[in-house]
Amino acid sequence: MSTRCPDCVNRGTQCYPDCPFARANFTATEYLETRKYNNIDWVRDKLQELSKHEVEYYKRSILYENKCRREDPIGGCLKVNDHVVKAIETLYGQMVKIGYNYLKNKKKEDDDEERNYLIRAELKLL
Ligand SMILES: [Zn+2]
Repeated sequence: MSTRCPDCVNRGTQCYPDCPFARANFTATEYLETRKYNNIDWVRDKLQELSKHEVEYYKRSILYENKCRREDPIGGCLKVNDHVVKAIETLYGQMVKIGYNYLKNKKKEDDDEERNYLIRAELKLL
């Protein structure tokens, strides 16, 4: 039974406990997909230079990017990011409108500075 990491199996080299893909515990499937969507030499170098905590986080990031690329080969992570930004902007716009309408209905002696800020913020969004 082989205890080598997928990268060492692929390259036909001996595997050491501190080899980058052994440190990150990549399975064969995760490794193959990472190789498919990334420059594997670059990923190996990156894994080598990171701390144990960073390696775990980096692996999660790579696997998430692989998943996005698998589900949407053209858009990938960028499309997911664009959707999130758009959703935040929409919600922010709705919050500003709610705040604007609330302040518009308040009496004149209320905080004019905050009211003017929200009016300016809404004008910027329109
Ligand atoms: Zn290895």
